[in-house]
Amino acid sequence: MPIHRLSQGLVNKIAAGEVVGRPASVVKELMENAVDAGATRIDVSVSQGGLDSIRVVDNGGGIAADELPLAVASHATSKISEADDLFRVDTLGFRGEALASIAAVGRMTLSSRTPEGQSGAEIECVGGELSEIVPCGAPVGTIVEVRDLFYNTPVRRKFLRTSATEFGHVSEAFTRIALPATQVHFSLRHNDKPVLDLPVGGGWLERIALCFGRELAENLIWVESVEDDVSLSGYAAHPSHSRSHNRMQYFFLNGRYIRDRALQHALGEAYRGLLTVGRQPIAFITMRMPPELVDVNVHPTKLEVRFLDSGRLYSQLLAMLRAKFLTTDLHARIQSCGEASSDDAAAAHDAAHTDQLRQQLVDWAKGKVASWDQGPGARDQGSEVGGQRSEDISRGLTAPGEAGAFSPLQLRPLDRVSPADNAAPLSSTAGQAGSATQAGSSARALQVHDRYLVTESEEGVTIIDQHALHERILYEQLKQRVSAGAVETQNLLVPEPVDLSPTEAAAALENRDLLAQLGVRVESFGGDTVLLSGYPAMLANIPPVEVLRAVLERILAEVKQPDRRDLLDDLLHTIACKAAIKAGDRLAPEEIAALLEQRHLVEGSHHCPHGRPTALVFTREELDKRFKRV
Ligand code: ADP
Ligand code: MG
Repeated sequence: MPIHRLSQGLVNKIAAGEVVGRPASVVKELMENAVDAGATRIDVSVSQGGLDSIRVVDNGGGIAADELPLAVASHATSKISEADDLFRVDTLGFRGEALASIAAVGRMTLSSRTPEGQSGAEIECVGGELSEIVPCGAPVGTIVEVRDLFYNTPVRRKFLRTSATEFGHVSEAFTRIALPATQVHFSLRHNDKPVLDLPVGGGWLERIALCFGRELAENLIWVESVEDDVSLSGYAAHPSHSRSHNRMQYFFLNGRYIRDRALQHALGEAYRGLLTVGRQPIAFITMRMPPELVDVNVHPTKLEVRFLDSGRLYSQLLAMLRAKFLTTDLHARIQSCGEASSDDAAAAHDAAHTDQLRQQLVDWAKGKVASWDQGPGARDQGSEVGGQRSEDISRGLTAPGEAGAFSPLQLRPLDRVSPADNAAPLSSTAGQAGSATQAGSSARALQVHDRYLVTESEEGVTIIDQHALHERILYEQLKQRVSAGAVETQNLLVPEPVDLSPTEAAAALENRDLLAQLGVRVESFGGDTVLLSGYPAMLANIPPVEVLRAVLERILAEVKQPDRRDLLDDLLHTIACKAAIKAGDRLAPEEIAALLEQRHLVEGSHHCPHGRPTALVFTREELDKRFKRV
């Protein structure tokens, strides 16, 4: 093919790929234009996640009838005129490409009226072709409607996910623009149903509460700092509230949402020691600085910017947060918010329950120690005591089938078992352990370093990773039940409303069937709240909300639409890992016994679901050889 110039239509289509990746990017660009036009009211409605239609109505300054064709031409803008303006940008847009790009990949109708105009005017743009300008009745402001997005780029359309997922992205884009622009009344509708309504006057915290739920808003700490002409202010979440991802870190620079690695890092540093490994802080920070201190023209969607002095900004942010955390009694808040937050309350309830079980277990085991001390002749009595008490604790822990199965080796001083240890998850294996010693597994086991179990077997010595083994057992049990369609769901007496982010809520509802297969039942409750009405009975001891959040985090971590079976398997791993006892959990002898009794379930595979081994075997021959006995 000889070299030739591409048609303008094709150029726009190629450029559109950079700006318009999915319905959410259209929503973003149209909302930015409305904010730039000085609107005080912006209403967004989309249908089918924006794939069918997107409509943005504003009451801003409007576009004059004769300028309508220019507005949709590429590189046409009213916002800058010379190169120097690039360093004085105080609008959200300035490239003059958005409308042209959107018009290249969808059917767009643009109607607008300026305060001076006698009437409104409308223009239609399909596949880059403009219609005539026709007068129309309209209030001052602009209405942009985009239908059948990507109708002429089927490949891109194919890459898009379901409408619920696309809507999740739409509402995220909406939130990024609406959060900082508190001077504007925003609303968002999906398929004709109101999703968010953000009136003016409530302030920033109120807006955060409406977007992310009251529970989070009640656990935010105000921070602020002014150094020369750079001012930072906003909210950082109490460490009791965190995520496994950094998508809840909102930075706004002069009213524009941005992502910045250095700032995220500073945030992480400020929370260092306050969050457990793998958890990410939540924060909403606005930054104001003169436009000449930052280059916003380095990224097609302006998501990233370049700061003139990023080092200084980093230090300012870190110092601001550290100073605040030092003067805030974070611990006291953890306790007081335990009452406020259903999440924490569940955890507290759980801990109390565990404590109680522990105490019963200790009493019971003491009884057995006594009977053991009285010699083998007293064994019957001992097991009777055990048998009777074991009923009380059977909800939480598996009792051994026979007291005599315990060797003195296991009877370490139980009183030293810290009540904080979380033994509860083991209970999830309890119900199924009925067949008890069928595995006849060597009940002689020693727990070392609170993480390994050393056992003697026919072959030699086996060292078991307690977490890996338990995780594997739970995984196998869950898998069996799921494939038999027999995951027992425990219905919640009072369904629990769970506040989620828009994306999480969308993912929860979109994957309702999948969740049901796992025994997790959710229903829509309006807005970003879902109603949790049931959870897997075998996981009775992890707070149900935690199960839901863990599963949603896993779903959202998927980059592309995963195969349903892969996703299900992934979720089983997530749940198993979450529910399994941890390295560092001290185990009672009964728990060790319960764990070993179920080893047969994972027989043949010495690997935990993540591929780590669950056990290492040292054969007698090997030991003999090493000790130079042979
Ligand atoms: P940019 O926002 O980068 O200038 P766009 O393609 O998004 O480029 O918009 C082109 C021009 O159309 C804008 O500069 C503005 O003058 C006008 N325009 C677009 N949307 C609106 C709106 N909602 N209200 C008023 N003017 C608008
Ligand atoms: Mg624009």
